Amino acid sequence: MNLDPRTLLFSLMLTYGLSVLSMFVAASSQSRTRDGMGKWAGAMFLLALSWALIAARGKIPDVFSVIVSNGFISSAYALMLAAVYEFQRRQAPRWQYLVPVALTLFMVAVLLDDIRGRFVWDFIIYGFQMALIARALLTDRENRAGRAWRLLLGGVAMMLLVLVARAYVALTGQVEFAQPQNTLVLQPIQFIGYIAAMATALLGSIGFVLMVKERSDEEVMHLAMTDSLTQIPNRRALMKSAEQALARRTGLPVAILMIDLDHFKPVNDTYGHQTGDEVLRQAAGRLNGRLRQHDFLGRYGGEEFCVVAPDIDTKGALILAESLREKIAATPFATSHGEISLSVSIGVSVCEADAKCELDEILSQADAALYAAKQAGRNRVVRSDIDLVQESQQPVYA
Ligand code: GH3
Ligand code: MG
Ligand code: MG
Repeated sequence: MNLDPRTLLFSLMLTYGLSVLSMFVAASSQSRTRDGMGKWAGAMFLLALSWALIAARGKIPDVFSVIVSNGFISSAYALMLAAVYEFQRRQAPRWQYLVPVALTLFMVAVLLDDIRGRFVWDFIIYGFQMALIARALLTDRENRAGRAWRLLLGGVAMMLLVLVARAYVALTGQVEFAQPQNTLVLQPIQFIGYIAAMATALLGSIGFVLMVKERSDEEVMHLAMTDSLTQIPNRRALMKSAEQALARRTGLPVAILMIDLDHFKPVNDTYGHQTGDEVLRQAAGRLNGRLRQHDFLGRYGGEEFCVVAPDIDTKGALILAESLREKIAATPFATSHGEISLSVSIGVSVCEADAKCELDEILSQADAALYAAKQAGRNRVVRSDIDLVQESQQPVYA
């Protein structure tokens, strides 16, 4: 099979050009912050230009078809690196962009008529640039939480392998390489190189768009699961985590604590809604500060919070509830209207280790216990399975 380099270069140009177009469409469909997509599209555009310049070899001066085109390639790889760093909201040292481009321009000018030498130097410089991109992808923790970055890494790894192989063939083989200006048969490694370049355009561009999409999905998910006032999980997230805690416990209890601020309405009525909001925020922070790492606090509604505490029994749940009650009541809330003293009432319901429980059932039990705590005078903890209302200040669990 004798494929014409110009035809292959034209198809590369088309692939890169179309990926620029697709990225612009993807980028314009949402209001985005700086996420590297513009730089990635810029890199694809530079590569499309350089394939066009290389294809014109023999028809335009070598300074364009060799020196400028290689300068574009190296600049495109620098832009890819910048795109990855911008996406990761990190910064790379400037030399990582400038040195490879300067070195490329110098080496291709020196090796203008030596394609073997250029292939070896391509490996050294472009290979280094690929390694920098791979390193950036591998060293960012948030980035690695997703999956799409692997597509990018795949594209980069493929290019790196091809650059090594091409340098090896150039150094050891006696082959003559096909170029647009000659009529030689394309070497297998050259053909593989075209395939890799094409695959990299697709993997890289699709991977990058997916990386941005993964992040925006993550942000939307966070918004859907977070209470905007207190920044703790909202009711939807709370219910999900309670369902999971119930489903996953194998032979362990799960406790639900329903917490309601006492006489909160007068806070709004006296100091205004904004001060009420401020108190709610602080209360959420205080409660969160008292929990164990795997306890889950959410805003159930208005001035009502709920804790899902996996693997604690009734005794442990009462100790936890009491410490939360104490945390709120012990110190007044400092607000712009001065200090406001508040308390909470807490209803506790526990699904014991060997029991089968429905979420609705333990929630309504916790709710009933909370109601009992209110009835008994507030600022106390009541557990659902005893009718006797107990003063939390005296240890109910002793
Ligand atoms: P109780 O001790 O019986 O719970 O009395 P309470 O005043 O806390 O209960 P009530 O249910 O009568 O009032 C709850 C108040 O919480 C009414 C509502 O205005 C207020 N509230 C609910 N959500 C918010 C909020 O997001 N911000 C503010 N500032 N207030 C809120
Ligand atoms: Mg209340
Ligand atoms: Mg309430």
